[in-house]
Amino acid sequence: MKTELLYMKNMEQTECSAKIISIQKNEIGVTVILDQTVFYPQGGGQPYDTGVIKTSDGAVVFRVQQVRYIDDAVHHIGILEQGDISVGMEILCFVDKEKRILHSRLHSAGHVIDMALKELQISWVPGKGYHFPEGSYVEYVADMENISIDTLLSELEQSCNAIISRDIKTTLVFDDTKLQNGKPMRTVFYGDFCIPCGGTHVAYLNQIVSIKIRKIKKEKEAIRISYAVGVL
Ligand SMILES: [Zn+2]
Repeated sequence: MKTELLYMKNMEQTECSAKIISIQKNEIGVTVILDQTVFYPQGGGQPYDTGVIKTSDGAVVFRVQQVRYIDDAVHHIGILEQGDISVGMEILCFVDKEKRILHSRLHSAGHVIDMALKELQISWVPGKGYHFPEGSYVEYVADMENISIDTLLSELEQSCNAIISRDIKTTLVFDDTKLQNGKPMRTVFYGDFCIPCGGTHVAYLNQIVSIKIRKIKKEKEAIRISYAVGVL
């Protein structure tokens, strides 16, 4: 069983038609698996999409509360609010657009921080990323010695916003012969900067609006850079 990941090829698409290929009911609710989806399953530090799956006549409404990627399939977990669903049914998917846009902006901002560090000639090794609206951060495995946090914070913020103002286009390159976390391998390019990544991104970096570096802090084995994005 395999779900075609439409959000991988077109990150701005938030609606699609699909066919139900499996339904499971258990203690966490109802899980619906489709032949293709625009719903982003949680991963790579980016939260899952939420939204609704319904039939074109509106007779069936399934509220998607959680989305997970398990064994090559996207699991849409939620509540059946109206009607009854069955395998083989043709349905429509609608992702909560506002939330997706915010997630894409926060996730892309994480890449901009990587780019800005590179421009400042700081070669820290990227670690974990957490791109949730409540307290986004990126971590680096690095040594903070001889670096003033206050100076770095202001230089980094300046560099991030300079990169955004150049309004670089997000370019995607696919390699279907390789897998990354069980998904088709995709590399995201911003000019010369590239990174293998399966998340959703803004189409142009100026859609991030602005980046505020909230804090730079030495954690146990990493340096954590907390950030926020400007209001749309
Ligand atoms: Zn990414």
